[in-house]
Amino acid sequence: MIIHLNKEINKNDAYKFSEKVQGKLIFNEKDKIIITSSKKNDYPKSYNKYVDKSFTLESDIQLASRQYKKHTRNVKINNVEIGGDSDNTLMITGPCSIESREQITKCAGLLKKLGLTTLRAGCFKPRTSPYSFQGLGLKGLKMLSDIRDEYGFNIISEVKDSSHVDDVIKYTDIIQIGAKAMYDHGILRETGKQDKPVLLKRGFGSNLQEFVQAAEFIMSEGNQNVILCERGIRTFETKTRFTLDLCGVSYLKEYTNLPIILDTSHAMGYSYGVPDLTRACVAMGIDGLLIESHPNPKLAMSDASQQLNFEEFENMFSSLIPICKSVKKNLI
Ligand code: PEP
Ligand code: MN
Repeated sequence: MIIHLNKEINKNDAYKFSEKVQGKLIFNEKDKIIITSSKKNDYPKSYNKYVDKSFTLESDIQLASRQYKKHTRNVKINNVEIGGDSDNTLMITGPCSIESREQITKCAGLLKKLGLTTLRAGCFKPRTSPYSFQGLGLKGLKMLSDIRDEYGFNIISEVKDSSHVDDVIKYTDIIQIGAKAMYDHGILRETGKQDKPVLLKRGFGSNLQEFVQAAEFIMSEGNQNVILCERGIRTFETKTRFTLDLCGVSYLKEYTNLPIILDTSHAMGYSYGVPDLTRACVAMGIDGLLIESHPNPKLAMSDASQQLNFEEFENMFSSLIPICKSVKKNLI
């Protein structure tokens, strides 16, 4: 149940109310809300005077559900917006990992040439092996921040564990929570306590309910600026890296109110398939894309097989524009 409190209630009473119904309290300038388990459908009558409106939801997908908020939430990333009334499909691109100042400057050049706004690059990499390149860490974040100052891009980079969550929040404009960190409640809660947008990737072994409930962890801390990212799930198929769950994307569009971004690079795992898959995704009318690109993918220090070189990226990008138009979206 979601309970909207009115202006009469002070923080102390709101807290007591939330304790009484074993709920979570959001109490800030914008929202005064209590969220309880969806199994609850009532609260003590004595609190009636403080309640504006209450909503009973079918499952613990509550703040993120269309049943609660009919329209897709608007997420603002400084001067760029997705969801809401914007009709934008935001192209986010850049290398899997930032590797050097020279490499990231070349990537910035590609974005500038195409008029793109949002640069991605990982600094803390959640690698499968401890012996692989783990990322440049804080040094990388500072380089990205310099690029932002120089070019005016928005920066997205991922948080891998709670040891560096504050640094990622400080130096980026969108905080990415990777597939392997989707269940890290420390990260979910910390990113929920601030208001920069959070791009939450679906864990490759998680179902849709678990995925959206992870988003609820962030939202119920007060941060409603959450973007869902489908990046492929693990199935019995081994010829591609993962299986992009486009049926799941339809479900998310129908039942949740959060903007949806698709990452075709990690799903496919091989650059040859990324342009076709991306065209198919854009045709679904989505809020954004996350595509890995690199000046020389063969030499990339992570995810070398799936990153597009700049020529491949540019060709793909121009082919997306008419598809976007046909579904009444603007590719930005
Ligand atoms: C990434 O975006 O580079 C990444 C590691 O993605 P994922 O968490 O989806 O594996
Ligand atoms: Mn990657």
